[in-house]
Amino acid sequence: MSVFKRLGLKQVINASGKMTALGASAVSEEVAQTLKEASQDYVDIDEIMELTGTVIAEVTGAEDGCPTSGAAAGIAISTAAVIAGKNLTHIERLPNSDGLKNQVIVQKGQQIHFGASIAQMISLGGGQVVEVGQANKVEAQHIEEAINENTAALMYIKSHHAIQKGMQPIETMIEIAKKHHIPFIIDAAAEEDFKLYIAMGADIVIYSGGKALEGPTSGFICGRKELMEACRKQYKGIGRPMKIGKEGMAGLIVALKQYADKATDVEGQLSRMKKLCNDLNGVSGLTCSVKQDEAGRDIYRATIEVDSKEAGMDAEDLLHALESGNPAIFLRHHYVNIGILSVDPRPLLKGQEDIIVKTIKLVLAQGVE
Ligand SMILES: *Cc1c(COP(=O)(O)O)cnc(C)c1O
Repeated sequence: MSVFKRLGLKQVINASGKMTALGASAVSEEVAQTLKEASQDYVDIDEIMELTGTVIAEVTGAEDGCPTSGAAAGIAISTAAVIAGKNLTHIERLPNSDGLKNQVIVQKGQQIHFGASIAQMISLGGGQVVEVGQANKVEAQHIEEAINENTAALMYIKSHHAIQKGMQPIETMIEIAKKHHIPFIIDAAAEEDFKLYIAMGADIVIYSGGKALEGPTSGFICGRKELMEACRKQYKGIGRPMKIGKEGMAGLIVALKQYADKATDVEGQLSRMKKLCNDLNGVSGLTCSVKQDEAGRDIYRATIEVDSKEAGMDAEDLLHALESGNPAIFLRHHYVNIGILSVDPRPLLKGQEDIIVKTIKLVLAQGVE
């Protein structure tokens, strides 16, 4: 029986993706075993923190790294590191950064909410956000003109939540940052390529441990050695209330080591989603087909088109009925307004596709209440 069920919670079947609100990721057997063993043992925290930094460096190609409790903590800690450096007095007075270089320049279209506000995470680290340009248009000149003697960093937020058109590219920001000798930070929380931005010349790159990595609830920062030492030192300051424990670090190490040889099981995804489609295509009002990810990634989802007349309810009603059941089933719903729902095979545990089929049939048979 699922631990959450034992605790009296409803069972959740996640067919929507890596959603923080549903617990982000389910870790591998080896990572789970590591979390268990680490939580029942002791370790020198500074030593495991440094080792984690070394493993992060190996996986990202950066000089060094710093583990965090998540990417959001990574934003706060990176900001604190570029403001306070390794100066203990400064570290201990953040987020009060009066009189220190504390301005963080962000393009307006990237001033987003990822589940919480980017600007608030920067403020937690003592940063003062300086937004440049307009929501849909930023020129390089806007960035240049915002730089002054109080500029602590330039920050780029790589996210599907951000405005994609009209922003200055990473290359331009790196160029400007280098010209003015200012650190360039990139929040790449959900990105899958752990080497790309370091290779491009970023000083600090922030990732989530629970997204592409499919690791434990955690995050990691990678970048220049001096800056990573400063990041780790923030655990004597604002990092303390967002600390990652021994089990988080041990689990993160194992997840990072596994990432390199983790092959996406494309065949497995395809055969599970094809079977699900076969089962659903017999249902009146539903047309199911397997489609590759819009961004061209190796993800094959089952796309279910709902003909509301035939099915007796529209995609929106079906979605809500599934979410409010027990087990609660969460499908992807980016296109629900045009009658399309989809099943993401990545977070599905063994056999859950059959529960999804069974429940959809049941919901349609019962009809709208
Ligand atoms: C998810 C996300 C975060 C936060 O990551 P956590 O690991 O949940 O703290 C920050 N920035 C962006 C762009 C994100 O997508």
